[in-house]
Amino acid sequence: MENALSIVRRRLRDVVKAGDVVIDATVGNGHDTRVLSELVGPEGIVYGFDVQPKALENARGAVTDCLASIRFIHAGHECMKEHIDPEHIGRVAAVVFNLGYLPGGDKTLTTACDTTIRAIESSLEVLYSGGVLTVVCYRHPEGQLELTAVRELLQALPQSGYVCMETAFMNQRGNPPVVFVVLKQ
Ligand code: SAM
Repeated sequence: MENALSIVRRRLRDVVKAGDVVIDATVGNGHDTRVLSELVGPEGIVYGFDVQPKALENARGAVTDCLASIRFIHAGHECMKEHIDPEHIGRVAAVVFNLGYLPGGDKTLTTACDTTIRAIESSLEVLYSGGVLTVVCYRHPEGQLELTAVRELLQALPQSGYVCMETAFMNQRGNPPVVFVVLKQ
């Protein structure tokens, strides 16, 4: 059945090619890192950011058989430009955000509105023309703030430079997530 992750993964498959450089901005348990590493293959690079050592540890365990070069970075995604190779700025094919808390972890340690917005702004700079940004937002209290702020940021982007799309699951019960997809022109 279609869900937030299937939408994101289809968009990634459309854009990301073997050998690309990509960013998982919220590594968590590493499921998105794995998908990205499979898409870029052994010649590609995946940068993975998370602020929780536990998340990076879980993710390392989830990608032991992946051939891509995965660079796990224990830092906030809002600092991504300081951590990726300068030569990769403007050459990134995809940046993936899955906001919220670490599944199975401390639910009080969530992504936060201010840093999420700064990280999305940086993502738009590091992407190449033709690259894709995906953001999955949830509706817990901090998530609701992020959802509103992300929507406002993306709505204000110039039409000449970006195609910005929002998908909501209108008939799904229980606060379903919202998916944003941005295609950089
Ligand atoms: N993509 C993950 C997966 O496939 O399992 C799920 C991500 S989880 C919903 C959100 C993650 O964002 C948590 O692991 C949390 O520690 C992390 N996070 C919170 N603030 C962050 C920040 N400023 N920079 C990077 N990661 C952050």
